[in-house]
Amino acid sequence: MAAFSHPFRAFTAYRRAAYAGQPAPRRQFMAREAMLELLERVGELLPLEEAPDLPWALAEQVHDPAYLARWKGGDVTRAEERALGFAWTPAVVERGLGSSGATLAATRDALSWGLGLNFGGGTHHAYTDHAEGFSFLNDVVISARWLLDSGQARRILTLDLDVHQGNGTAAMLAHEARALTVSMHGANNYPFQKEAAGFNIALPDGTDDAAYLAALDSQVAPAMAAFRPDFAIYLAGADVLAGDQLGKLALSLDGVRQRDERVFRWAARARIPLVTVMAGGYNRDPQQLIAARLGTVEAALEAFGKRRAQAAESR
Ligand SMILES: [Zn+2]
Repeated sequence: MAAFSHPFRAFTAYRRAAYAGQPAPRRQFMAREAMLELLERVGELLPLEEAPDLPWALAEQVHDPAYLARWKGGDVTRAEERALGFAWTPAVVERGLGSSGATLAATRDALSWGLGLNFGGGTHHAYTDHAEGFSFLNDVVISARWLLDSGQARRILTLDLDVHQGNGTAAMLAHEARALTVSMHGANNYPFQKEAAGFNIALPDGTDDAAYLAALDSQVAPAMAAFRPDFAIYLAGADVLAGDQLGKLALSLDGVRQRDERVFRWAARARIPLVTVMAGGYNRDPQQLIAARLGTVEAALEAFGKRRAQAAESR
C-alpha cells in the first residue's frame, strides 16, 4: 500500500508527462531524468495512472471547432507556433487530449472522493480560438464546462496560483456567471497584457513568503468565501518558487507548502470538492521543483485524508 493509507479508496494522481520518452522540448522544462525521478517519488505516495484521452467533442464544447480542426491537421502558421512556444507536431494535439483527459478524470475523482489530482494540466493560456504560452487546450475550462453542463456543479471557482495570469481561463469564463476565476500572479510577467475579467491580484517582482501569504489570506480567501463555490479547480503552479527560469517571485519551498496547505485545508473544511492541476514549474534546480511538487501532493493528501478520517469516525 502507498505510504499514505487510509480505509478509503486510495487517491490517484493522473499523469501525462508531456514529453515522456522524448527530449524536453525547451530548456525551461524539466530534464527527462528529473521528471522520471519525480514520478517515481510521487508513485510512492499514491498510485499513478494514465487517464483516457479527452473526447474531441468535449474540446469542441469550449474551443472553436475550426481552430481545433486546423491544429489537428497541422494547418498552423509560424506566428501561431511562436505564440504556443513549440513547433507543431501531431504530439501537440495528442498531449493536449491526454493532459485534458487527465484533468477530467481527476475532476470525476474530486466529485466522488473530494480530491482529484492531475500530475500535469493547467494549460491556462489557451483561448477559445488560439493557442499560446505552451497551451493548446484549456483543460481547466473544459472541466468547468463539463461540470456545469452535466449539472454536477453550479458554482465553480478556478483558483490560479501559477505565477502567470490565467488569461485564457479568465477570458473564456468571463461571461459565465456560475464561475469565478481568481488569479494571483506576477505583475511584470507574461502575459504582459492581462485580462481584466475575474478577480486578479498582481504581485511585484521579488515577492517573498510573508507578502505572498498575506495577499492570499487578506484578498484571495475572502473572495473565495464570498463566491460560495460548490467545486474548485486549483492550479498549483510551482513557478512562484525562487530560482524559477520564468517566474520573478521569491517564495521558498516552505512558502509554497504553506500556500498549498491553506488551499487544501480551506476546501476540505468547507467540504468543497477540489481538483488540483500542476501548471507551470521551470526551476533552474530540478531538485527544488521535485520538492515543490511532492509538497503539493503531500499537503493535499494530508488535508483530505484527515478530513476523510474524521468523517469516518463521526459515522
Ligand atoms: Zn506559469
